[in-house]
Amino acid sequence: MRSMAVGVRRITQRRSGTGALAAFGAMLLLVLGAGTVLEGTPDQVAAAAAAKPAEYSTLPDSIRAGLPQGAVQRLTVTTERLLQGRLLLVDGEHSIPEGVQPPVTYSVLGYVHGRVACRDQQAQLGREALLALEEMFVDARNLGMRTLTLFAGTRSPEQQRLLLCEQTDELSRRMDIEQAAALAKTMVDPPGCAEHQLPWTADIRICRTWNGLPESGRLEDSEEGRWLKEHAWEYGFIQRYPDADPAADQHRPYCFRYVGTVHARLMHETGLDLEGYLALLREKGALTLVDRNGAPVLSAVCAEAGERHTVYEIPREAVLDDASMDNTGWTVLSFTYP
Ligand SMILES: [Zn+2]
Repeated sequence: MRSMAVGVRRITQRRSGTGALAAFGAMLLLVLGAGTVLEGTPDQVAAAAAAKPAEYSTLPDSIRAGLPQGAVQRLTVTTERLLQGRLLLVDGEHSIPEGVQPPVTYSVLGYVHGRVACRDQQAQLGREALLALEEMFVDARNLGMRTLTLFAGTRSPEQQRLLLCEQTDELSRRMDIEQAAALAKTMVDPPGCAEHQLPWTADIRICRTWNGLPESGRLEDSEEGRWLKEHAWEYGFIQRYPDADPAADQHRPYCFRYVGTVHARLMHETGLDLEGYLALLREKGALTLVDRNGAPVLSAVCAEAGERHTVYEIPREAVLDDASMDNTGWTVLSFTYP
């Protein structure tokens, strides 16, 4: 194994005093192959090791736990910046934290001059997501696939609230209003808990005719959908809920999230969705993708969030890609090697 992150070890050592954290720290040291366990009684270490999910114990050949050894640079990232990162987990259980600024977004139709087929004329996206989406749609079109259509991008809290009201209204024609309101909340995330309030979220569907209804099956049922599932990571997008059933959910199977090419590639190589990837990062501390000769290509490192800022020690030659809160008390830094 290509050894552990100095930064992770240092951060781990600082976690003295609290039992559970110390045990986790000890586990982290074991996982990273540090050899000497500094924290936790043997029982705590054994308990922590037993709690480790078995499916993550082996990594693909292209991925190594930890960071390459060598000279390091120290990087301090403010909490304010981490809150603008691309890995913020937002769903019915993880609301958008205080301190996240309203995203800066652009008109999809206007900004890319119609090169992205767009059902919602008002659709907005953050700049990085929009440029990556444009590249993906243009490549698909050049391959003869003209049916990819953006159905939704970034929404304001008010738009999200109206969507929830609309869903409640629709359901209330078939059931009591209280029932409808409760059911609607399982279908549309309430404002403050909606991933579509981030600048990175895009619903992409297959539409055979202009202004017609989109296909309602699984993405893998069509050539364009299969292409999207196989290639979105190359543009920095992930399918947010790859296993969602279109028969039960009209939205999640088509929901994509821009996380950037570093994270998307690591998720592609490990075959994990966002939740699984964040769990793997917490378990391993750091992940490094290596080329055929074993040279590092890119890495992601996970650290517990500090109050005002978080300090990382990363390889000196690393070039920063993104720094993000994950919204579960941890942060993730991603970078490439020139
Ligand atoms: Zn969506």
